[in-house]
Amino acid sequence: MTGILIVAEVDAGELRPEFWELVTVARAMSATLSGGISIAVIGAKVDAAARQTAGIGEVHVIEDDRLADPWPEAHAAALIQLSGELAPQMVIAPRTILGAEMAARLAVRCRWQLVQDVTQIEATADGGLQGVRPVSGGAVAATIRAGAGPWVVVPRPRAFAPAEAGTGAESIAPLRHSFAPPALATACETPKRIAVEGISIDRAKTVIAGGGGLCGPEPFTLLREIADLVGGAVGASRVAVDSGWVQSALQVGLTGKTIAPDLYIAVGISGAIQHLIGCSSSQVIVAVNNDASAPIFGVANYGVVGDWKEVMPAFRDALAGRTA
Ligand SMILES: Cc1cc2nc3c(=O)[nH]c(=O)nc-3n(C[C@H](O)[C@H](O)[C@H](O)COP(=O)(O)OP(=O)(O)OC[C@H]3O[C@@H](n4cnc5c(N)ncnc54)[C@H](O)[C@@H]3O)c2cc1C
Repeated sequence: MTGILIVAEVDAGELRPEFWELVTVARAMSATLSGGISIAVIGAKVDAAARQTAGIGEVHVIEDDRLADPWPEAHAAALIQLSGELAPQMVIAPRTILGAEMAARLAVRCRWQLVQDVTQIEATADGGLQGVRPVSGGAVAATIRAGAGPWVVVPRPRAFAPAEAGTGAESIAPLRHSFAPPALATACETPKRIAVEGISIDRAKTVIAGGGGLCGPEPFTLLREIADLVGGAVGASRVAVDSGWVQSALQVGLTGKTIAPDLYIAVGISGAIQHLIGCSSSQVIVAVNNDASAPIFGVANYGVVGDWKEVMPAFRDALAGRTA
C-alpha cells in the first residue's frame, strides 16, 4: 500500500514547479503516515518530467495520447485508476486549474475527504487531519478538520517552501500503468494553446496588474515595459479582462488565477474581495490608486495615493535609469 501519492502535473512536457511544494508537504506528512511516498505522472509525453521526480519515491506513469491535453475528465480518470491500484492514504494535488479539478473528481468518485487550499496541514491524535485555510480574501484563517482518511489534499500555491529539486542522478525506471478509463463522456476536440506574452503570472516573482482605473488597453503597454524591466509578468483584474483590454490568462482572482509572487503591484485596482482572493498571499503588495479609501489599501504593504498616469511613467523611468 502507498502512503502518499503526489500528483506531478506536466504542462507541455514540463514538470510544473508546484510539484516541489507538494514534495515538502508529503515529506512532512510521511512522518505520521506509513507506506512511503509515490508520484503519479500523467500525460502524453512525460518521460523527461518523470525523470525529474526521481529520488523522491516510486514513480508511477500513465502515458497515453488521450492525456495529451489538460482535459480534466481524462486526467481525473487516470488519477482515479492509479489511486484504485495503489490505495494511497493521501493524495496531494497542485492547486492548478487541472490539479484542483482532478482532486475534486477523485474525492467525489472515491468518497475521500477533500482538504482544499490549505496553508498548514497536520495529522491529529484521533487519526484525522487539521489544516488552515485562508478565506474571505485572506482576512480570516479558518481551521478545518477532516476525519479518518483517505484524504485528497490540495495545498495553496506558495504556502509551502519548495523542496530542493533532485538531479535525476538516482533515477530508476518508472512503473508504467496502461490507461484503461471507463467510457469518457467528454473529449477535447480542438485543443488550442493560447500563447501568453511574457512569463505566466503564476510563475513570475513580480506581477504588475492593471484594473478598471487604467480605462483602456493602451496603458497595459506601460505595465508591460515595467514588467520587462524587472523580469516580471503583467496581470489584470476582471474588469480589464471583461472589457477586452487583455487576455483572460492574465486575470487574478476568484474566477482567474491565484498567485503568490514576491511582489504584486496593483495599479488602478479597487481591491474587491474577488480580486484579493487571487493575490492576498503575495509577499509584498503595492497599490497605486487615486482613491485613498479604496479597499486595496487595506491589504497593501505600501501604497501610493495618486494618478497612475503620473506615478507609473516615473516608476518606469526610474527603473530604466537603474537598469541602463
Ligand atoms: C462571482 C464573481 C467573480 C469575480 N471574479 C473576479 C476575479 O477573478 N478577479 C477580479 O479582479 N474581479 C472579479 N470579480 C469582479 C470584482 O467584484 C470587481 O468588480 C473587480 O475586481 C473590479 O475591478 P477593478 O478594481 O479593476 O475595477 P474598478 O472597480 O473599476 O476600480 C477601479 C479602481 O481604479 C481606481 N482609479 C481610477 N482612476 C485611477 C487613476 N487615474 N489612477 C489610479 N487609480 C485610479 C479607482 O479609484 C478604483 O479603485 C468577480 C465578481 C463576481 C461577482
